[in-house]
Formats: sequence, structure tokens, C-alpha cells
Amino acid sequence: MTIPRTLFDPAGCGLPSEADIASLASAWFPEFLKPLDSGGGKLSPDAASGIYAPQVLSKDPAGKPGYPEGQGPFPGPRYGSLSADASGGRYVGARSLAAIRGDFPILAEKVHGHDLVWLDNAATTQRPKAVIQRLTCFYERENSNVHRGAHELAARATDALEAARNKVARFIGAPSPDNIVFVRGTTEGINLTAQAFVKPFLKPGDEIILTMLEHHANIVPWQIIAEETGARIRVAPIDPSGQIILSEYEKLFNRHTRFVALTQVSNALGTITPAADMVRIAHAQGLRVLIDGAQAVSHLPVNVAALDADWYVFSGHKIFGPTGIGVLYGKREVLEAARPYQGGGNMIADVTFERTLYQGPPAKFEAGTGNIADAVGLGAALDYVDAIGMEHIAAWEQELVAYGMKALAGVAGLRLVGTASHKAGVLSFVLDRCHNEDVGRFLNTKGIAVRAGHHCAQPVLRFFGLEGTVRPSLAFYNTFEEIDKLVQALQELTDRRK
Ligand code: PMP
Repeated sequence: MTIPRTLFDPAGCGLPSEADIASLASAWFPEFLKPLDSGGGKLSPDAASGIYAPQVLSKDPAGKPGYPEGQGPFPGPRYGSLSADASGGRYVGARSLAAIRGDFPILAEKVHGHDLVWLDNAATTQRPKAVIQRLTCFYERENSNVHRGAHELAARATDALEAARNKVARFIGAPSPDNIVFVRGTTEGINLTAQAFVKPFLKPGDEIILTMLEHHANIVPWQIIAEETGARIRVAPIDPSGQIILSEYEKLFNRHTRFVALTQVSNALGTITPAADMVRIAHAQGLRVLIDGAQAVSHLPVNVAALDADWYVFSGHKIFGPTGIGVLYGKREVLEAARPYQGGGNMIADVTFERTLYQGPPAKFEAGTGNIADAVGLGAALDYVDAIGMEHIAAWEQELVAYGMKALAGVAGLRLVGTASHKAGVLSFVLDRCHNEDVGRFLNTKGIAVRAGHHCAQPVLRFFGLEGTVRPSLAFYNTFEEIDKLVQALQELTDRRK
């Protein structure tokens, strides 16, 4: 029997709706609709034959129907060690915080005899079981190169990759999957934009506007092309809370300005910038804008259309997806105007030794074999957060930030760095008479993971007269109780030093 491709992927590993399954099942496998064993009607592939067979459908506690047992955004078994009590019986949207923590196997780790307290989410987030299983499933049943090879696995892998591209487009409000270029991460997305779109039109004396808040990944690529072309960098200043001074930003624009690149959320301070206003101001001057969304996507609902971003970039690993995969969104016209970033297979329409014709975007920017499996894993991560709801995640994190800022402010000798009223995810501080690295090492002995150092954002730390901070950073699986543990450990450290 020939199996229709759509039944293999994404249905095979993941995430069809109950209605999809029912209609596909009745169309292709009427004989399987009769209840077997436990009475299910879900199709899943039989390992030996490759033919889909019925399987039991589970009802997720959050009320999302339709995922096979052990698959979908909230697969079992649950690994988390945190009881409902320890998570305060709280909910993020319809899902309990205890269940959410159970979705992330690593949160049950012990470190130096303590429960792991993962407060290094700005460096990388942890992965839910749904992502880990999706990767396993890809390698076990779909692995192939894509966009070529007239065989079943090539079709499955291609379907899985393009389904992930669709999910990304939907997740960030892009008009089409053709606006989504898969890259290695935020860093590569920014370098691509600088080299392929901005550099070709720069000339000596031109200016690129950045902000004081930028990560090195949104400074160095612009410096490289500025050095190569004779352009220069202008920097929008911030106030003492760590917020952009919009009126000063506005003053930077002049007839030499050619491009603007800005972060939506600062990785060192957590400041949420007025990105939409900043884009509007740049657009009023006829200029294009890139938004670095690396620290925004896992904390705020992001909509590139509402932001009116020309380019938007983020990394999979900052939003519970794999490392080595990221997303560059571009409006159609900028993707078409940009030249290829790298040349090679997959991105061409026709090659002779005299000339090459390129594919349109996004293929034009995806030379060579991409990170197929991790793109698929990223799609699973977005399904996972979507099922909880970014608006619920943002609301819970706002409570965590407010709680954390207040609790840390009570530690003697602690100075908070980054106190903007609009902030997300980051609780940077320095402690009197303590080296940041020593604080980080001490917290590690208590199982508490934070980052201590310059966080690849030296300019903004130097604005505050610092070479580094201690940076606890949050995700929606963190709890008030974990913040309490952090504060208790800091109090113990300061007491010892009296
Ligand atoms: N921009 C910001 C704001 C970041 O926080 C980071 C990662 N810390 C990056 C860019 C670079 O991301 P990646 O290393 O995943 O390319």
C-alpha cells in the first residue's frame, strides 16, 4: 500500500490534530478505525512495516487533545522532582508549574547535593522532553538530506523541515514561511544581514545606528563592515535605569544614516526597549531596521508584523530548542534585495562555469546542507511554548522579575544593575567587596547556576562603570522558591564576609 506523505510527517513524530488524524484515517485506513486493544483510533507507524497502525490518544492535562502517548508538547513520563507544593501550586496558563517543570528532565538534576536551580537562561534555556523526543524521532524515522533524492525519507525530512519553517513563521507573525531563513543562530543571522544586505550599499562616511545595550553579536559584525567600507557606528544612549533615551536616539539620524540595528531585550540588564517606536522613527527616515530578538522570543509574545521589523533574528537554544539553529526573518523585499551570503548547493537554480542563477529566498541564503534535525527540534520547542501560551509565560515571568528584584534589593551590599521599569528575565547585580566570579562559584556550590562576567556586552557594563556582573536569568519554569534559595545563599555569603 502506498502511504500518503502527509501521514508520515509531521503526523509520524508529532503533532497532528485529532480531526486531521480522524479524516486521514478514514480516508486511508478505514479498517484501522475499529478499536484494537485499548480502543484508540490514532495512526502511528509500525516499526516493522512502516505502515501506520492505531495507537491510544492521550488527553493532555492542559486540555490539548490529540497527541499520542509519550509524544506531543507534554510527553510523559514526567521527570521533575518538584512537587506541586514546592512550585507553590501555581499555574502558567492552564498548566501547573509543577507539570511544566516535569517536562524538563534536567531540572531534576542534583548539583553538589542540591536540586539544580537553573538561573542561566539568558545563556541558554533547557529543553523539554518534547524537543528531545522530536530529535530522537527524526533520527530514528525521518533522517535524510532534504530537497533532493526521490525517496521516502527525503520526503519525510523535507516535510519535517518545512513544517518547522511554517511553525516559526506562525510563531513570530511572519506573512509566509518564505520569510524564514534557517541560520546557525542570532550571530550568523546578524552577520548575514550585515554582509549580504547592508555592506553592498555602504560608502565612506555612512552611518549605522546601534544602541548602548547591544550584545557583541550586534556590534562586531557592523564594525567589520564599517571598517571595510569607511562607514561609522553611532550609538543610542541609555539612562541610568538602562532604558534607551528615545529623544537622543532620534537625534542620531541624519543624511548619512544608512541602517539601524537594535536589541528588543538586553541580555545584560533585561531592559525591554521601545523597539516598535524605534523602528517607526527609522522608517520615517526611509531606513531599514534589524531587531535582535535573542532575549525577547522566550519572554514576550513577538510579532514581526506589529513591530514592522525589516529583519528579526533569534536563536533556537534561547527558546527551549536545540543549539546550532536559529532564525533570520526578513521582509520579502529585503530578502530579494540581499545578495547571497554563502554559495553552494541548494541555493542555486542553475549553474554553468560562466554564471549561476540563484533560487529565491529563503533557499538563496541556505547554501549547503543545513541543520535539518535541529530546525525540526526548534519547531517542537515552539509548539511547546505555544501550547502554554506566550502571553501566560510573559505574565508569570513578570511576577518572577518583580519578586526577584524586590528580594535581591534586600541583600545588604547588593547593587542591582538594570532597573528599567520595562524589563524581562534578567536580574543583574554586583555585591560589595565580592568578585563576581567568586559569587558565581559560591552559588554553584549550592546548585545554583548563574553567569558571572561581562555577558558579551562590555559597552553597556562599562556605562555603569563595571567590567562584569552576576547575572541570574529567568525562564517560565523558575519559581519564587528558587529565587528564595538564591537570596538565602547570597545572604549567607555576605554574612560570612562580615
Ligand atoms: N544577542 C543577544 C541579545 C544575546 O543574548 C545573544 C546570546 N547571548 C546573542 C545575540 C548571540 O546569540 P548566539 O550566541 O545564539 O548566536
